[in-house]
Amino acid sequence: MPLSRRQFLLAASALVGAGASLRASAAADADILVLGAGLSGLSAALTLQQAGARVQVIESRSRVGGRVLSFADVPGIPEAGGQSIGPGYGMLMTAARRFDVGLEDRLPAQLRHSRVELVLGGEAIAPERWPSSPLNPFPDVDKPKLPWQYAATLLAEGNPLAPGTPWYAQANAAHDRPLHDFFLERGATEAAIKLAYDTNPSYGTSARDISALQLMFIDAWTGMQRRMRPAAVYKAVGGNQRIPEAMAAGLEREVQLRTRAVALRQDAAGVTVTCDDGRRLKARLAICALPFTALRRLSFEPRLSGVQQEAVQKLPYQQSTQVALVARRPFWKDDGLSPSMWCDSLLARTFAHHEGDEVVSILVTAYGNKAAAIDRLGREGAIRRVIAEFEAARPSARGQLQAVAWHSWGLDPDAGGSWAVFAPGTVTRYLPAMSAPHGRVHFCGEHTALTARGMEGAMESGQRAAMEALRQL
Ligand SMILES: Cc1cc2nc3c(=O)[nH]c(=O)nc-3n(C[C@H](O)[C@H](O)[C@H](O)COP(=O)(O)OP(=O)(O)OC[C@H]3O[C@@H](n4cnc5c(N)ncnc54)[C@H](O)[C@@H]3O)c2cc1C
Repeated sequence: MPLSRRQFLLAASALVGAGASLRASAAADADILVLGAGLSGLSAALTLQQAGARVQVIESRSRVGGRVLSFADVPGIPEAGGQSIGPGYGMLMTAARRFDVGLEDRLPAQLRHSRVELVLGGEAIAPERWPSSPLNPFPDVDKPKLPWQYAATLLAEGNPLAPGTPWYAQANAAHDRPLHDFFLERGATEAAIKLAYDTNPSYGTSARDISALQLMFIDAWTGMQRRMRPAAVYKAVGGNQRIPEAMAAGLEREVQLRTRAVALRQDAAGVTVTCDDGRRLKARLAICALPFTALRRLSFEPRLSGVQQEAVQKLPYQQSTQVALVARRPFWKDDGLSPSMWCDSLLARTFAHHEGDEVVSILVTAYGNKAAAIDRLGREGAIRRVIAEFEAARPSARGQLQAVAWHSWGLDPDAGGSWAVFAPGTVTRYLPAMSAPHGRVHFCGEHTALTARGMEGAMESGQRAAMEALRQL
């Protein structure tokens, strides 16, 4: 639970000693420099500001929000980044309320338009034909399940983690192994794993290079969100990006945009961050709210070491690429199928956005190797290929589709992927060491979250890093 302002000030004054000054020395640009204006950096900065510290946030992009990016000009405002806000996202929802960003519940619309077509080998297979399809590799009892339902059920039914458990602890090391092995033990065949997981993996490139333990944690977290009452899936009015924008506007010092940190040096007096324009910013402490893909390009003096350094260098990030489409004509009325599809082709997954009951745009998302393959074609090539794949799967869409937005998180130099993925063996090896303070430098970001995930994990990690920094200030 987030602390109230009063609780926070009490905690902060207890940490630094009653009456002690939190102010920086005159030579410093701030008490604390926060690198990165994604949700984790903004959450840290607001928490520190509330405790009376002078905070300066710097951000390499020309906007705040990082991996929260709304395609604001596309009808239905699809999210290119952080999308669904569960009813248990207490910290994010508190921030939205505090800064007057409205949240709307998208669950009723999602339930009304929940049909997703299964498209294999270029052909849409109706749910009633799927159990007897020769392409269905599942055991008899599971044949009615669609591929994504089969993988999710296998995981949920065999998940030994209770929600809220310290999933990264050594006690869980036995589960820190390939998801593929876990699926085999649960009775899945190679063919079933290939179709149900490897076709469109949200984590890793296949069930072989992802830790079962990470998926168990995600299943426990999302299961908890689903069981909360009243059930809801929120999205910010005007797009989720409004939340980090409003948080940034709540800072006393404006976020310095287009300011990329390239080096971080620390000594007994404080930290000095060198920016790509040559400026040097000084503070007593720093918080790095960057994905490891960006952190590994930052030069540290003194250097990071041990497991923490290994994790910064090696932690993989999920590749994902999105193309937003609008249709000139409602082609789905011609063939009677849903525009939302799950495909074994490069098209991967398509998701229809509705305003009322009208489809207003379609977001195509490819993950893993499919995203990498699309990225190799460049933006225009990727768009041409996605439309060609769409038309092959849905002949009624021929000549009807127009691409209106594109984003590759893998090619995005400030992200390097959509989220951190843990290879087998690395949850228990890396995670406890990843956010350890390095002298005057603290670390946060979704990859360091311990109890929540995604956007809420980013918020959690920012508050944790702020508390650590206050203790040291
Ligand atoms: C496609 C997609 C779908 C998602 N769906 C969901 C969802 O449904 N629900 C959910 O909860 N989460 C979801 N997420 C995850 C969520 O968006 C992220 O976990 C969260 O936004 C990460 O916040 P962060 O602060 O850790 O990192 P970031 O948002 O990446 O913030 C880091 C910031 O640092 C900046 N930066 C990088 N390098 C430097 C540098 N050298 N100097 C200064 N600044 C720098 C970056 O530009 C960025 O603004 C999704 C993400 C993606 C990409």
